[in-house]
Amino acid sequence: MRAVPFVELATQAAELAPELLAAAERVLRSGSYVGGSEVDAFEQELARELGSPHAIACSSGSAGLHMALKALGIGSGDEVVTVSHTFAATGIAILQCGAKPIFVDIDAATATMSASQFESAITDKTRAVVPVHIYGRPADMQSIAAIARPRGIIIVEDAAQAHGAAVRGVPVGTLGDAACWSFYPTKNLGAIGEGGAVTTSSADLAVRLRILRNVGQRAKYEHVMLGFNYRMPELTAALLRVKLPHLRRWNQRRREIAKQYDQAFKSTASPVTVDSLPDGLEPVHHVYPVYHSRRDLARERLQEAGVQTGIHYPVPLHVQPAFQPFGPTHRPLPVTERIAATEISLPMFPELTDSQVDDVIAAVMSLPRPGGGRPLPDRLDGA
Ligand SMILES: *Cc1c(COP(=O)(O)O)cnc(C)c1O
Repeated sequence: MRAVPFVELATQAAELAPELLAAAERVLRSGSYVGGSEVDAFEQELARELGSPHAIACSSGSAGLHMALKALGIGSGDEVVTVSHTFAATGIAILQCGAKPIFVDIDAATATMSASQFESAITDKTRAVVPVHIYGRPADMQSIAAIARPRGIIIVEDAAQAHGAAVRGVPVGTLGDAACWSFYPTKNLGAIGEGGAVTTSSADLAVRLRILRNVGQRAKYEHVMLGFNYRMPELTAALLRVKLPHLRRWNQRRREIAKQYDQAFKSTASPVTVDSLPDGLEPVHHVYPVYHSRRDLARERLQEAGVQTGIHYPVPLHVQPAFQPFGPTHRPLPVTERIAATEISLPMFPELTDSQVDDVIAAVMSLPRPGGGRPLPDRLDGA
């Protein structure tokens, strides 16, 4: 069997090469490389695809989170509730605004923010909540919004992993005040380089985001805010416009792969456990997580069998050095810590072939079973 990579980006680029090259040539010949028609067109096409009235393209998902919180007025003295089980950019954006992140635990069934934990973390300083649609799974936005709205708490969705995910047909990114997206190359919609966006239904917020993105300029040389250079280059937008029409098809393929994985790993013979998501969730499987109590051993065996894996994420934010200066920002996070210690991400990208999926399943099914709480011998083959 040939090795199955954890992720492989060149195939997708090769499939679209003629169109990508034509788009690149269009930009090269236009003489307009920043702040032009490609970004404008991409923003309109993206807004339509994500079901949001306004999309503001920017330089990365991290930049999007920072400017969204900033545009919504988050600053020092504010507390922002989020999860520790996420990519660091979620929490870093809160720190960049001078606010204090308050980490709450996640729901054991979905690995997304627990609405009841959010509610119990609210103080009179709580200004915003940042739920993360981790692994491409929608967070429980309805419950979170029902808690946040009456208290005037701002909602910023971190949708960096969830382009196209929905709950009973309602797309993620449409229930908060703003949603942030990443086009990092491995994301469900990946740029040829870096990129991000913020979507919102507020025309007023969209104006502020455009000013913040452009060094605080309202008009040429009129700087009305402490802004940033978070602009998206024309070339990036032109190439993303080629990829955007394929997003649904790619997400559909991820769903097919997830279904095959689910079928295998939900069986009683499976040595790994997987989540059973509640009905109505329409995830887009940015990551396919499985859990094994002896993760290092399991990953080593998979590697020997030619299956590359990842971990999302081994070190939760609340124990990262960057978050320590802000004092004790967290309560007990048992689910976060359990997932951080046992999660293994299997290969999951649209170009995986059926035979590669079969190879992954076979390799996982032949892992040692953690079974019955008895400790496993270190090396099963010699035992
Ligand atoms: C990727 C990611 C980000 C940051 O996006 P970049 O484009 O890499 O800056 C933020 N949050 C989550 C959950 C992510 O997965």
